[in-house]
Amino acid sequence: MDTEKINALRQIIEGSQNIVFFGGAGVSTESGIPDFRSADGIYNQDLGREVSPEEMISHTFFVRHTADFYAFYKDKLIYPEAKPNDCHRALAELERQGKVKAVVTQNIDGLHQLAGSKTVYELHGSILRWPCVQCGKIHSIDYILQEEQKPIPHCEDCGGMVRPGVVLYEEGLDAEVVGKAVQAIREADTLIVGGTSLVVYPAAGLIDYFQGRHLVLINKSETKADAQADLVIRDAIGKVLSEAVESFGE
Ligand code: ZN
Repeated sequence: MDTEKINALRQIIEGSQNIVFFGGAGVSTESGIPDFRSADGIYNQDLGREVSPEEMISHTFFVRHTADFYAFYKDKLIYPEAKPNDCHRALAELERQGKVKAVVTQNIDGLHQLAGSKTVYELHGSILRWPCVQCGKIHSIDYILQEEQKPIPHCEDCGGMVRPGVVLYEEGLDAEVVGKAVQAIREADTLIVGGTSLVVYPAAGLIDYFQGRHLVLINKSETKADAQADLVIRDAIGKVLSEAVESFGE
């Protein structure tokens, strides 16, 4: 690991009072949750062809091939045994210290909250909430995973279909969540972006709202914003953040 860069990151964090973290799939892969885009496509009988993971979690596929949608979703996007990693823990610690004001995430696994983060804006929703499409009642993931909820889960109150509380392809992001994320980024003095190559829009466009002092990019591979950043670290986000935060609060 590049000690000089870790020291630079530590100094930036020490000198900041309003840090916002913006995270992508790379944050969750360190908890053993693979990027669903890496999953193999699945052969669909009705369509007579293989369907890509992206297509599988689109609104159209959900409506037209609901049972297949749920089978894929439960198999590839739900990891009930996943635990927070060093990245989640470091951010929760920095929030306790008053440094981190918000976490903006593209992930749906709820691991930031599990690690203790309080202000988390989930751009793509959460796998932990399953609303009924008829009455809106929220169901837990444990309820959804029960054997009797196969192949399509139904509301325990009204019998309506229950869907994942996430944003599917072809669906718009929640305007209120986006608004709060934009505001947090606008007010931040430091923006740390981790585990994303910043290619997925509209989420990736959020960093354009940042007008603070330090933009830090931590990702294993090159990102679209490397040229704009004060500090670029090409490494695993959990490792980098835990080393930078290690000496804090002692
Ligand atoms: Zn209902």
